[in-house]
Amino acid sequence: MNMRTLWERAHLREIWHNCRYYNDYRRIRAFCQKHGREIRLLLPDKLWLDSISVVITTKCNLRCPDCSNLMQYYDAPYHLDRDLVIASMKKLNESFDWCDHYKILGGETFLSPDLKSILMSVPQEKCGKVSIFTNGTIVPDDRDLFAVMRRKRINVILSNYGIAQEAQKKLTAVLDRENISYEIVKSLVWMDYGLVMNHGANDKELLRQFRQCFINCKLLLNGCLYYCPRHAHGYDLGLMDRKADEYVDILRNTTAQNRREIRRLMWRRKPVEACKYCQRGTDKAIQIPRGK
Ligand code: SF4
Repeated sequence: MNMRTLWERAHLREIWHNCRYYNDYRRIRAFCQKHGREIRLLLPDKLWLDSISVVITTKCNLRCPDCSNLMQYYDAPYHLDRDLVIASMKKLNESFDWCDHYKILGGETFLSPDLKSILMSVPQEKCGKVSIFTNGTIVPDDRDLFAVMRRKRINVILSNYGIAQEAQKKLTAVLDRENISYEIVKSLVWMDYGLVMNHGANDKELLRQFRQCFINCKLLLNGCLYYCPRHAHGYDLGLMDRKADEYVDILRNTTAQNRREIRRLMWRRKPVEACKYCQRGTDKAIQIPRGK
């Protein structure tokens, strides 16, 4: 029997994809492919983040019913306190050596009145890419904001919603004029993570779900770093609990504590409380049309 037959007959592929090392291996391989010369960042004394997201507002002018970040559940959406966001970004920035993709998002990011001052705290010198996410419905008109965006090498990522086509054209024209890079998300589908309710999975099912989730979106919200947006906003909305080892209290910790705890969160191998209220990583998570 040759190796290929053995691989297929013994379901080795499935076993490998479900084993605890697969997720870590994927991350390390992706990093090595991207940064051949930056392998030093994998040394134990360095903290490399592949992606980090900073939430600056929960207000959104679309509030799509299937938003996986749960914006539709906020009865009283709010702009995060500017000083708190800036202070927690500073603490976070002190804690890592390199971040592949530093993201600023909402809600709808361009609704925030504090975007300009928050962007000043972005550590672009140790980030591979810095992005603002927008639903493409708001066209900012602020020369100072554009100047900061250029200085901080901000890239704008526009969601591709059918209802925002006209506004999107205007926004891309302004970004072209201001010499700010942007990209338009091509995918027309979202993943539906299911209703925010306890789906009753047992421990074994939750572990399997978590290993197959592959989400890579640590989220900074109100001074704390969470494993994923569902957990961050679910807790903020009072829809679910959080356990002490499932988040990092960036603002309260020292830098040394943050480095240690962020690393622990990044390489986490156990589900978080939010997984009980989510169906990503299961067969029940299906693709749906993007946006409204
Ligand atoms: S709640 Fe769990 S399964 Fe859902 S996205 Fe977050 S980590 Fe993945």
